[in-house]
Amino acid sequence: MLILVINCGSSSLKYTLFKHEQEIASGLVERIGTETAVYTRQVRGKKQSALTMSVPNHERAIRLMMEYLGRDNLVRRPEDIEAVGHRVAHGGPNFTDSALVDERVRNNQIARDLAPLHQVNYDGIEAALKLLPQQPQVAVFDTAFHQTMPAKAYTYALPYRFFTELKIRKYGFHGTSHKYVSLRAAQLLKKTARRINVITLHLGNGSSLAAIQKGKCIDTSMGLTPLAGVVMGTRSGDIDPAIVTYLMEKEGLSAAEVENLLNKKSGILGVSGISNDLREVIKQAGKGNARAKLCLQVLAYSIQKYIGAYHAILGGVDALVFTAGIGEKSPMVRKLICDGLQGLGVKLDVGKNRKTIAQEKAIHAAGSKIKILVIPTREEYMIAQETRRIIHKAKK
Ligand code: ADP
Repeated sequence: MLILVINCGSSSLKYTLFKHEQEIASGLVERIGTETAVYTRQVRGKKQSALTMSVPNHERAIRLMMEYLGRDNLVRRPEDIEAVGHRVAHGGPNFTDSALVDERVRNNQIARDLAPLHQVNYDGIEAALKLLPQQPQVAVFDTAFHQTMPAKAYTYALPYRFFTELKIRKYGFHGTSHKYVSLRAAQLLKKTARRINVITLHLGNGSSLAAIQKGKCIDTSMGLTPLAGVVMGTRSGDIDPAIVTYLMEKEGLSAAEVENLLNKKSGILGVSGISNDLREVIKQAGKGNARAKLCLQVLAYSIQKYIGAYHAILGGVDALVFTAGIGEKSPMVRKLICDGLQGLGVKLDVGKNRKTIAQEKAIHAAGSKIKILVIPTREEYMIAQETRRIIHKAKK
């Protein structure tokens, strides 16, 4: 039986079709809402193909996906699909695990209010329910894995009523990725997850770290929203909150303008003035560009400080796990980060690090107190696994 994984972004739809553990097809519809949406699809063992057409909304994109899954002879009838797994960025305070889509999920107003930009995940669920009404649907929340954080980690020192009334607290994101790579790290270390402590570093366009103690997340760098934490492609990460009001006054910016500035114009792009793509910044740093060099230092430093803090709260760390675009593919950034951590007993094998790009590998030197692993993340695979687990649990 097939599991279909759907990931709706603000103007995109990503999907992957799994048969048992195997990915048999995937696709991406970009620029949804325009006359020139691009639909790229890939069937295992065949050449990728791309079409340009008008796709007004996500419902149409899902219809298109179903039509082509049929044409490619992968899904002949809706019943061929055992279940649909949806990536949902924000689950709010009430979901500590992935969940079967029911009224509780569909009416998750708190999460919709907290993450207006991610409402589209819920729109995707509604569209899939319309087109595949008989198939069970599962919501896999990015926030769920972090729900094991203790209150001392997720509570902001604001007047307490903002927590009770508005549910303002730390939630954390990328949970599916942190969960996958931490479980995989345990397998690679030949231990059960319950016996190890790891710090997972999901470093992509958006980045977050998680402190995982005996399989449970006890802290993570993103907060109420994915703006907090380490320096990212275009997001500032942690800053003095007073900067917000200062900028509003000095530059006459509205709340929406400051939000836009912190989310879209800051981070690697803001400091370097070059790009949000770290590859460009690394290239310019290599040519001697001072801002590019500074940007790399600011980035690595912000990550090192989190590792130091998480090392302290975990009470011992078995492994650092690098994942996502930068973590998987940039030996240079991994080295910059690890070079500052000798005090913790972190020793990188420079040769292994250099050769490891987008593959699963241990890159620490002999005698390193803390192992260093590179593990490519597999969020879609993890969502499929979660979907299977939840529907089997529901059948019991
Ligand atoms: P997203 O967070 O959008 O899922 P990814 O995890 O794919 O993104 O990460 C994308 C980012 O990874 C790019 O913006 C780029 O900065 C970075 N990246 C990808 N390849 C490399 C590389 N070889 N060296 C440095 N950075 C890289």
